[in-house]
Amino acid sequence: MIEKNNISLKPYNTFNVNAKAKYFAEVNNVSDLKTFLETPLFKNEKRLILGAGSNILFTKDFDGIVLKLNNSKIKLISETDDSVFIEVDAGVEWDSFVKYSIDKGLSGLENLSLIPGNVGAAPIQNIGAYGVEVKDLIESVNIIMLENHEEKTILNGDCSFGYRSSIFKNEFKNKIIITSVLFKFSKRNSINLEYAPLKNYFAEKNEGEITSRNIRDAVISIRESKLPNPNEIGSAGSFFKNPIISKEKYDKLKTEYSDLFGFSESDLNIKISAGWLIEKCGFKGKRIGDVGVYDKQALVIVNYGNATGSEIVEFAEMIKSKVENKFNIKIINEVNIV
Ligand SMILES: Cc1cc2nc3c(=O)[nH]c(=O)nc-3n(C[C@H](O)[C@H](O)[C@H](O)COP(=O)(O)OP(=O)(O)OC[C@H]3O[C@@H](n4cnc5c(N)ncnc54)[C@H](O)[C@@H]3O)c2cc1C
Repeated sequence: MIEKNNISLKPYNTFNVNAKAKYFAEVNNVSDLKTFLETPLFKNEKRLILGAGSNILFTKDFDGIVLKLNNSKIKLISETDDSVFIEVDAGVEWDSFVKYSIDKGLSGLENLSLIPGNVGAAPIQNIGAYGVEVKDLIESVNIIMLENHEEKTILNGDCSFGYRSSIFKNEFKNKIIITSVLFKFSKRNSINLEYAPLKNYFAEKNEGEITSRNIRDAVISIRESKLPNPNEIGSAGSFFKNPIISKEKYDKLKTEYSDLFGFSESDLNIKISAGWLIEKCGFKGKRIGDVGVYDKQALVIVNYGNATGSEIVEFAEMIKSKVENKFNIKIINEVNIV
């Protein structure tokens, strides 16, 4: 267990924002975690559970205890004729688990390659990319309730998973710690190429059999060409969620903008690209001081150096209001603002 006072959180958030934590602690296993939960420090202070800090924006110093969980085991739990069950600790880096699963010959997670962050945060916003969401492979999530330190297993059907949403981002927000996640892999090859840009990538290459491993390679190469590398430029990936609008509104917009495209969410609703809306408002590549919209992907707000969290939020609010004025569509944050 490591405890520190008054430390900079800059190395602990991918936006590279320089906020401080009054207290900071790291634990390496659930037993140490349970001991730590009983300390006066944890009981009396305001708390924040931190993963890899890739979906968080600090707008001020954190006046309390930031707790980072570094448990790191990956365990094969069971195997049937059809499925393989693997339990993964919250502190495992997400992409190293994706690689591990593919190395073991298991398919399903390849489309989620190279998403930053740790396994413990993956169910929180039901991470997704290239037509796959992590809920598709989650069997259950192990948590500790902060009010009474009770350990519970939440089955997939009780997680209220939705688009970048779950019970952990809503009813359970700030009330639980995710300690591990149980994944269920199908033994049948379950690759997913429904997402058009990925399908087109392989159609253009025309290289024969498509495997999990070459989907992973393709996803990594597409992501590297479009998204900022967190080690080089600060961001939290998509700052906003893609809005879901009525089909009626979509049809009307489409008559004006032939390049608009959407994904059907239901018979009545269509999800459209927030990046497209932002680009149409002229923000792609725009920069004010050290805050800007990434020039290759308008959904990503970046910190070019020493931007503060408040400056980033101010910039995001300006984008939201321009989008609302131009299209009468509200876009909302995907990033957790603290
Ligand atoms: C370049 C880039 C690209 C990205 N691309 C994608 C993408 O394609 N798809 C996507 O869905 N996301 C994407 N993201 C967002 C981010 O990677 C994911 O949301 C990721 O799951 C966050 O993990 P983390 O460990 O960094 O969580 P953190 O940022 O540390 O935390 C996120 C939230 O979860 C809480 N939390 C974290 N761990 C726990 C825990 N163990 N128990 C309880 N609460 C916890 C925190 O308090 C916070 O509210 C991207 C981010 C970046 C920087």
